[in-house]
Amino acid sequence: MNIPMVDPAREYRELKSEIDAAIGRVLASGRFVLGPEGESLEHELAAFLGAGHAVGVNSGTDALHLPLVAAGIGPGDEVVIPAFTFFATGEAVSYTGATPVFADVDPGTYNLDPAALLRSITRKTKAVIAVHLFGQCAPLDRIAEICNAHKVVLIEDCAQCIGADYDGRRAGSWGDFGGFSFYPTKNLAAAGDAGLITAKSEEHARTLRMLRHHGSRQTYLHERVGWNSRLDELQAAVLRVKLKHLARFNEARRTVAKRYRERLAGTNLTLPAEHGRGAHVYHQFTVRSERRDVIRDALAKDGIASSVFYPMPLHKQPAYASLGKVELPVSENVSKSVLSLPIHPFLDDASIDRIAACVRKVA
Ligand SMILES: *Cc1c(COP(=O)(O)O)cnc(C)c1O
Repeated sequence: MNIPMVDPAREYRELKSEIDAAIGRVLASGRFVLGPEGESLEHELAAFLGAGHAVGVNSGTDALHLPLVAAGIGPGDEVVIPAFTFFATGEAVSYTGATPVFADVDPGTYNLDPAALLRSITRKTKAVIAVHLFGQCAPLDRIAEICNAHKVVLIEDCAQCIGADYDGRRAGSWGDFGGFSFYPTKNLAAAGDAGLITAKSEEHARTLRMLRHHGSRQTYLHERVGWNSRLDELQAAVLRVKLKHLARFNEARRTVAKRYRERLAGTNLTLPAEHGRGAHVYHQFTVRSERRDVIRDALAKDGIASSVFYPMPLHKQPAYASLGKVELPVSENVSKSVLSLPIHPFLDDASIDRIAACVRKVA
């Protein structure tokens, strides 16, 4: 039996009757864009996250791009982001014409290192995107303090960490904005592309609603050039069903992580570090090893999937060659040694044990 990284169909089977009913309700209503499902999802997620406002959009990428636009960031501005992240974090900055400035990460958690952030701030810095990688929050107290001191906008990239908290406050409630992705492999997964932005200020939320809808608040009156980036009603209805089960699913991921730790103890692998300031929701279970590629081959031979998130930090990507050379040793090193093992709420004990035994043989 092959073991995949994730199993979205298994999640559907688990929730089939609820999801089918929700989809049927939307189809029967005839309302597919900007309707009651989207509005309810926004209210439910704002409450769940402890955020002032929530605005649904088309994708996690838009959920990072539109906050930068709403904050007035554009050409000539700099936005500091970690180099070790998914490419979309950088793209969101580049869409605005601003320049991404890459900072190094902590070797234990892979999240933005506050000291590196501080070194990267210049007079042109207008915003910071703190990515909560693999399901655990970046050090939000220090990062928020630095942003406040330098009057810089804080955007949290929450694509991988919905439900995680830092000092008792959920990711997405700390920054001026939080960007969430509901891409089908994320902890809260749509049946397609979808995203959502949290915002502290009501004015920002109003601007975001206008930006996602062709720069329009009033039908056929366009105050500025915007985008078509709405979260549709079918996706919202699916997400509302899954949100009710998110706490349980995140807990199941934590249980999988605990068993991995037990089964992989005493090897040369570096296991994921928990900073202890809040719940890790294990979007990924990412280990580190000098023998990464050997482990990956052994797993593949046994029909077990694994992934390298991410093999190339952003400052090394061809798309950013024109920004010039920077050296970010932690990001460069970890990209050569990280390996993410299968994890999802339905990964059973026998599979975890089989994966761990296969890793142990070659690690
Ligand atoms: C998935 C992801 C995104 C982009 O989300 P999409 O919904 O795929 O556009 C951005 N940042 C991080 C860290 C991600 O993991």
